[in-house]
Amino acid sequence: MLNLVLFGPPGAGKGTQSQNLIEKYGLIHLSTGDLLRNEISQGTVLGLEAKKLMDQGILVPDAVVIGMISNKLDANKDAKGFIFDGFPRTVAQAEALDELLKTKNSAISVMIALEVNDEELERRLLLRGKDSGRPDDANPEVIRKRIKEYNDKTAPVAGFYKAQNKFKSVSGIGSIGEIFDSISAVISNL
Ligand code: AMP
Repeated sequence: MLNLVLFGPPGAGKGTQSQNLIEKYGLIHLSTGDLLRNEISQGTVLGLEAKKLMDQGILVPDAVVIGMISNKLDANKDAKGFIFDGFPRTVAQAEALDELLKTKNSAISVMIALEVNDEELERRLLLRGKDSGRPDDANPEVIRKRIKEYNDKTAPVAGFYKAQNKFKSVSGIGSIGEIFDSISAVISNL
């Protein structure tokens, strides 16, 4: 199985690159942000609780997202592999993901980090907010909180995969095609 963790701060281009990777490698895309927004649009209790945090740019509890990922892994038993996008976002989530994959005799193949500086991220997110309609993209204060959550809680997840020799980084600046070529090169060298 090819199991990729696509890593990087909000606005790094994880969602965009995931779309290309799905097509090229036939992987199942698991974005916890998309799964949570789906819960919100269906008006579930989980969605209502998550929305309060997401609108402030705060991470939702580990147990919530781990439960969602576990359900999706069970629902896609015959998958060739998965792209994890926006997950794991804490070291506890990374540990839980290792355990979940172990029960399926599988493991993460590689974490690919998209490197983009903070000013460029803020610029991209404000631009995206104009079309996406996402409340958390529209407010500069919430964007800064999301970047702070990333730096405080998510950045350490890179160390978790470095310790397993599974960390690779590519520049997230350039055209979508150039960045995709860099990601594909990492995958073909696995
Ligand atoms: P995203 O679409 O990945 O930018 O996520 C949007 C928001 O959903 C984040 O700011 C968090 O509030 C929440 N979220 C998404 N994925 C996770 C996760 N793995 N752990 C905790 N919160 C998450």
